[in-house]
Amino acid sequence: MELILILGPMKSGKSFELINYFAPLKYTDEKFALFHSINNVRDEAIQSRNNVVAEARKIKSIKEIVNGGYAAVGIDEIHMFPDTDAKYVAELLRWGTRVVISGLDTDYQGRMFKIIKELLELGPNTVNYKRAVCDHCRQPDAVYTQVLKDSVPIFKGLPPSIPDDGTYAYRALCRRCFKKL
Ligand SMILES: [Zn+2]
Repeated sequence: MELILILGPMKSGKSFELINYFAPLKYTDEKFALFHSINNVRDEAIQSRNNVVAEARKIKSIKEIVNGGYAAVGIDEIHMFPDTDAKYVAELLRWGTRVVISGLDTDYQGRMFKIIKELLELGPNTVNYKRAVCDHCRQPDAVYTQVLKDSVPIFKGLPPSIPDDGTYAYRALCRRCFKKL
């Protein structure tokens, strides 16, 4: 069935778009649900930066929802899921489930997450690349997420997906302002 990806850096409105996609479904008889990762320690629900909130269940792996009989599922912060979970997305699609996924496409080094690469290889029907306003030059073309500790960018030594527990700060940056090793 249909696969929709909503990708982009921090603060690009991805979660808002995911929530919006599902808003009309509550007026239908379709069985749908929203999910996010247990690694998301910051939020209980899915929360957009303009304070729109949607109820969501925390799961460890997408494997847990493959046999749920859903007509549609939304998955937020996909980069927080195990690398190997793209195969369960493929399975959901085979079952006829519509899958809408949002998340960061690149990590703190500007490299594409493995799970994103594998989702793109599934041939999504729609890929919506969102951009944020650059936290440095204020131009509306931020595509990267820089991770900082004590205001200093970190270039190596972190796991690709970093729990957002307040240890690090995040900035959306454009190609010119993003710093790489
Ligand atoms: Zn910039």
